[in-house]
Amino acid sequence: MPNRFIVGNWKMHNTISQAETLIRDILALYRANPSVELTVAPPYVALQAVARLLATTPIKLSAQNVCAKDEGAFTGEVSPPMLKELGCQYVIIGHSERRHLFGESDQAINEKIHAALRHDLRPIFCIGERLEEREAGQTHSVIQHQLHTGLAGLGSKALGNITIAYEPVWAIGTGRAATVEQATEVHAAIRSFLTTHWELNAEQIRILYGGSVTADNAQALFQSPHINGALIGKACLNSESFVKIAEIAALD
Ligand code: PEP
Repeated sequence: MPNRFIVGNWKMHNTISQAETLIRDILALYRANPSVELTVAPPYVALQAVARLLATTPIKLSAQNVCAKDEGAFTGEVSPPMLKELGCQYVIIGHSERRHLFGESDQAINEKIHAALRHDLRPIFCIGERLEEREAGQTHSVIQHQLHTGLAGLGSKALGNITIAYEPVWAIGTGRAATVEQATEVHAAIRSFLTTHWELNAEQIRILYGGSVTADNAQALFQSPHINGALIGKACLNSESFVKIAEIAALD
């Protein structure tokens, strides 16, 4: 299995000065472990300040979103080359808040994934079902549709540069994480779908779980061989809990 991957999604939290304080606190606590890759995704405006503080550290930088276009008359958008120059290595694409609060379609997400890859930014591609879809027994069909449309037009080499984040919408920000069994079942289905459709080696595929991960439930989640890490919202805004989760993720 690949190394564990922990991503902190700061969402719309932290001004530049607050972001600097948080990253300094994280750096003061964090002891890097070669089996864990750690990444933070601050808001756009704080990327440069955080990039400077991370420059000589093993913690990597991610953006929370990206435009599918390289440049042009797209007011308010930020392009892949802009993120690349800021030092981003990763970009979160298709987060449920982008899909459901800002109306991002599967097609738009697919275009963003292609654009990111063209500029050597590695997508963290989020998928997940809503509560009513789970209750209607549609979890697998929703996930398969999101994978099929989001990854359309990509070859298996490109897929190797993508991290999948399974984030059930009902678990994000609710304090109600999926059980290990629920997450494992969907992760296994994602792995199987990708290996079947893209002829990938299952071990190449990195699949994170996201949705109310905390320092208290991380241990149990990471015991599943199908869970390669976590995408963390609320718990990454506290340096102690974020670093604790990274420590729990370390492989023996
Ligand atoms: C997220 O924003 O992707 C997320 C998983 O948030 P939280 O950890 O707060 O549920």
